Amino acid sequence: MSDPRPGTRSVPTPLDAPSDPRRALPSVGVLLESIEVAPLLARAPRSLVAEAVRSVVDDARRDPASTPNDLAGWVEAIADRLEALERPSLRAVINATGVVLHTNLGRAPLSAAALHAITATAAVACNLEYDLERGERGSRYVHAVALLRELTGAEDAIVVNNCASALVLALNSLAAGREAIVSRGELIEIGGSFRVPDIMAKSGATLVEVGTTNRTHLTDYEEAVGESTGAIVKVHRSNFELRGFVSEVELSALTPLARTHAIPLLFDFGSGLLVSLDEYGLRGEPTARDAVRAGATLVLMSGDKMLGGPQAGIVLGDASAIAACRRNPLARAVRVDKLTLAALEATLALYREPVRAVREVPALAMLTAPAANVQLRAEQAAARLRDNGVSCDVVETEASVGGGAFPTARILSYAVALQGTPAAIEERLRRGDHPVIGRIANGRVLLDMRSVPAGHDEQLVRAVTTSLV
Ligand SMILES: *Cc1c(COP(=O)(O)O)cnc(C)c1O
Repeated sequence: MSDPRPGTRSVPTPLDAPSDPRRALPSVGVLLESIEVAPLLARAPRSLVAEAVRSVVDDARRDPASTPNDLAGWVEAIADRLEALERPSLRAVINATGVVLHTNLGRAPLSAAALHAITATAAVACNLEYDLERGERGSRYVHAVALLRELTGAEDAIVVNNCASALVLALNSLAAGREAIVSRGELIEIGGSFRVPDIMAKSGATLVEVGTTNRTHLTDYEEAVGESTGAIVKVHRSNFELRGFVSEVELSALTPLARTHAIPLLFDFGSGLLVSLDEYGLRGEPTARDAVRAGATLVLMSGDKMLGGPQAGIVLGDASAIAACRRNPLARAVRVDKLTLAALEATLALYREPVRAVREVPALAMLTAPAANVQLRAEQAAARLRDNGVSCDVVETEASVGGGAFPTARILSYAVALQGTPAAIEERLRRGDHPVIGRIANGRVLLDMRSVPAGHDEQLVRAVTTSLV
C-alpha cells in the first residue's frame, strides 16, 4: 500500500475542514484512481466500480449524515455498493414458507439427477435436433417422449414451454375457428396471470360456457355440442375445492360424448402427478396415468409442479392429435429448450422406480417426509440458532403442497418460530445476502422446515444468523 503504482495515488485524506460538508467530499475521479480502490478494479469491470463510487458520493452529497468518516469508510461503502451492483437479479433463496411448490419461489427444486443431466449436455454440443442413428436432422420433440409414454400409458407426447402454452397449442391445433366447450365451474384462475378463459381465447377457439358456477351436468355439454364444436375442455380444479350443492362431470363421463361426436376432449390437468401419494396421506389427485386412462384426447400438465422437474408443458395423448400439435407453427413459438429437456428426461427416469422418485425428486421428498424427521430438523436448527444468539423455539405447523395440487391438503409440519418484531425480522431475512423467506403467523415469523430441502438446514442456520445477529 505504501508503494502506489504509477498513476494511482492515495486519496488525500479527505474532509479537511468541513464547514460545508459537501466541499469535503472526494471526487469520483480521485477515488477511482486511488490505491485503496485499485483492488476493486482488479476484480470488477471499471464501469461498474465507477458506478459504485459515483452512487456512494451521490448519496453522501444528498445526505451528509451518510458521509463516511474516513477513507476506510469510503472504501467499505464502495465495496458494499459494488457487491450490490454485481448481485444477480435471480438468486438462490431458502423457501421456509411451508408451501412446498411455491410459484413465486420457482416451484419445484430440481433433483441431483436433473442437475447432472443439465451439466452433462448444456455445456457441450448435444443431439437436440440431430438423429444419431441416421446421421441427419432430427426433432427436439422426440426427447423425453419414450419415458412419458412408458410412465403414463399415453400413445404419444410433446413437450413445450409450460402448461399454459400447451393449452394454447392444443386448442389452436384442434379447435381454432371453432367452439371450445367448458364448464363455468372450471373457468379458473391459477396464480399470477393465468386465467383459463383468457388463455383459451388467445388460442383462436371461441369459448362456450356451460353449466353454472357450482353445478354442471352432462346434459349441459350435450346441449352445447353442435356443428361448430371444436373441442370439449375439462379443467382440473387445481387450487380450490367446491363444496356444498355442487356437481361436475367427470372426465370419464365426458369421453363417450366426445367419442360419439368425434370431438377432441382436452384435459387441462396441471399438477403432473406421476405416482400416487395415497400412502403418504396425500389423496384425491389423479395421476397422469389415470388422466390418460380416463380417455382424454390430450392431457396437459406442468413439468414443475407435482412432477418435480423443470418448467415445461407436457401434452400427452392420441398420436394424431399430438402430430397436429407438432405440425402447428405455434409449436415453434412455445418450444422447449435443451436444458429443460435434459432436466425433464432425467427427472422422468427416476419415476421408473416410484420409491426412488419419492426419495430423490425433492418436491416429493419434502411432501412425504415423516413429520418426526421434520420436527427433529426444526429442533436441531433452533438449537443451533440459539447457540448463535437467535431467540427462537419450535412450533407445530401445517404445511401445504402449493403449485396447483392437493389444494386442501394440510401436512403436519414444524417450524422454527423467531422471537422479535415480526415485520422487521421478516424483512431482514428477506433482504439478507442469502434470503430466507418465511411466513408470519400469530405475530411471529415462522420458518417452516417442510419446504426447506433436507441437507439445507446448515445454510438456513447460517443465513438466519447472518441476517439477525
Ligand atoms: C398450473 C396450471 C396451469 C398453468 O401451468 P403453467 O405450467 O404454470 O403454465 C394450467 N392449468 C392448470 C389446471 C394448472 O394447475
